[in-house]
Amino acid sequence: MPALIEVRELVRRYQLGGQEVRALDGVSLTIEAGEFVAIMGQSGSGKSTLMNVLGCLDNPSSGQFLIDGQDVSAFGPDELAQLRRERFGFIFQRYHLLPHLDARGNAALPSVYAGLADAERQQRAESLLTRLGLQERMHHRPNELSGGQQQRVSIARALMNGGQIILADEPTGALDSASGAELLALLKELNAAGHTIILVTHDAHVAAHARRVIELRDGHIVRDGGTPDAHQAASNESAPRGQGGWWSRKRAQWREALMSAWQSLKGNRLRTALSMLGISIGIAAVVSIMALTTAARSSIEKDVGGFLSGRIVFWRGNPNLPPGVPPQPFRPTELEALRALPGVRAVTSERETQMTARHAGRDSMVAVLGAEPHSLQMRKLKVVEGRAFAPVDFATSAHVVVLDEKARDNLFKKGEKVVGRTVLLAPGLDPQQAAAQIPGSPPPPVGVALPVTVIGLVAQDTGSMVQFGNGLGQVFMPHTAYSKKLDLRPDADVFNVLMDFSLPPAEVRKQVVYRLRALHGIEDFGSWSGEEEFQSFQQVTGALSLLFAGVGAISLLVGGVGVMNIMLVSVSERTREIGIRMAVGARQADVRLQFLVEAVLLCCLGGLVGVALSGLGAVALNAAQDKLHVEVSGAALALAFAVSSLVGLVFGTVPARRAAALSPVDALARE
Ligand code: ADP
Ligand code: MG
Repeated sequence: MPALIEVRELVRRYQLGGQEVRALDGVSLTIEAGEFVAIMGQSGSGKSTLMNVLGCLDNPSSGQFLIDGQDVSAFGPDELAQLRRERFGFIFQRYHLLPHLDARGNAALPSVYAGLADAERQQRAESLLTRLGLQERMHHRPNELSGGQQQRVSIARALMNGGQIILADEPTGALDSASGAELLALLKELNAAGHTIILVTHDAHVAAHARRVIELRDGHIVRDGGTPDAHQAASNESAPRGQGGWWSRKRAQWREALMSAWQSLKGNRLRTALSMLGISIGIAAVVSIMALTTAARSSIEKDVGGFLSGRIVFWRGNPNLPPGVPPQPFRPTELEALRALPGVRAVTSERETQMTARHAGRDSMVAVLGAEPHSLQMRKLKVVEGRAFAPVDFATSAHVVVLDEKARDNLFKKGEKVVGRTVLLAPGLDPQQAAAQIPGSPPPPVGVALPVTVIGLVAQDTGSMVQFGNGLGQVFMPHTAYSKKLDLRPDADVFNVLMDFSLPPAEVRKQVVYRLRALHGIEDFGSWSGEEEFQSFQQVTGALSLLFAGVGAISLLVGGVGVMNIMLVSVSERTREIGIRMAVGARQADVRLQFLVEAVLLCCLGGLVGVALSGLGAVALNAAQDKLHVEVSGAALALAFAVSSLVGLVFGTVPARRAAALSPVDALARE
């Protein structure tokens, strides 16, 4: 049966200012299971170095090192971590407890990395602490415990995963003599229970408690008192060794990483808040772009994308016409020809004429329009008083009109009810307002003075970006009544092309313009297409999004660098904690995870603040205006979370790797 520990010609060199120090200079020894060995020697003789090598915290420069006959020299970091986790329990002179964990948390730490289930872990920690007389101190933090109590917590920690081999480096060094004596008694008890004890001390009185004393001087063994005694351990008490399955191990790792990340962020509130700032601004920018573009899009869709989508409006007249050239109206044959063009679903026409309207002695020039059933809707006019046209109005050519607000203001007193009133429509131009007429439009019908009943009042929908009309008040009348009573021309002044979307809108518009120009011999008309408007608006919002995205990206970059910086500080501040975690068996991956989780958590908190900022911005914006309704959507939240996590992952990688790459012994030595 191989010895528990066997080393041959162990050498550990240090490079000190160009000079080589041999802390261990050819040490050979064998330790059997169940021994109680004291390693003695003066300060600087190499005791700690030997203990660190034996405990797999440090690598020898050369020599052989076997545990249970297994050559450890070839082991990688994770295999060494496993050995520390499963075989060793460390007791340090300065206890090395984690300050933010209570006694139970500190004692239980090794089993987190072994993957013991939560309940079992706590139960075991509690029973160990109780055995060590700390049942009243379970929830005390190290700074609330005496030195002797802290050292007993560290013994509980050493025993947590079994502690087959207990390595104690000057364990009584910081204790008063009574506590020191108690501790030695405890170690003896543990040895009697089957634990192998390796005790490092410079004190001969302490060493006297061991059954075998090895003395070091200048890295050599100068005395090895007593042959390895054959005290064979009646194997250790049952030690839980990662019985938790893969799942419970992962859960324990993640929980520990989250808890410690949270503790660390909470412990440095101001620092955390400041380093979140860049991320918050970046995320606020990103979320705001999303909310704004979504709001703008839906507003435009409501506006032009709804009723107007798939529609091109043509009207008679063009400001670029040479003077003296009258714009021609659109003749039925021409409209018929346009209907045949590809991409055109239908063509609907409207006519209008300028007349004088009269009510209670007030006269005003108005544009009277022969309205189709959809005309009000198409102009984004909504009824604010009375009603819109009903089918029966068209069927019976009813003498009813709907006024817009301008016509109402010109004809009625302020606050006067308009619905049910009669207005007289008469031909003839007010000379002052004649200039407002489209040049060349047909003379108003002569000899007609038509009484009409007002059935409704319409107003421009505030959300609309499109405004029809030439500045005159508008009076809408069913097109059937209009053509019978006011304007007997079959020609139209306005027509709509409804598209079937087999061709792009711009293409259809080009074709109609081309054909109409050919028919008229000149471009004496104008046109407007909701689709194209939509597209040009999208270009504007696209540019705006780009700007916001730029601001967002830069803030995230700056924020990410800030997070990286703060995480590097955090790693160097917590180097000793990393060393402690490694000593109790944390793998490099565990340490990496811990710092990555902290970086991601930090970024996600920043992201959350950013989302809250943009939410507040949205509320303020919605209160200030009603054109856009801005909302922070679930998709924006998900994006914020994803982006924050990504920034955390990217910028947390370097600090996390740096932490994981620390050597346990260097990390522990750092103050
Ligand atoms: P002891 O624990 O017996 O006091 P150590 O094992 O700590 O002694 O140190 C042995 C020798 O190795 C000392 O001369 C010390 O200066 C040197 N030494 C220990 N650690 C380092 C290190 N990290 N770098 C350089 N020299 C070291
Ligand atoms: Mg030492």
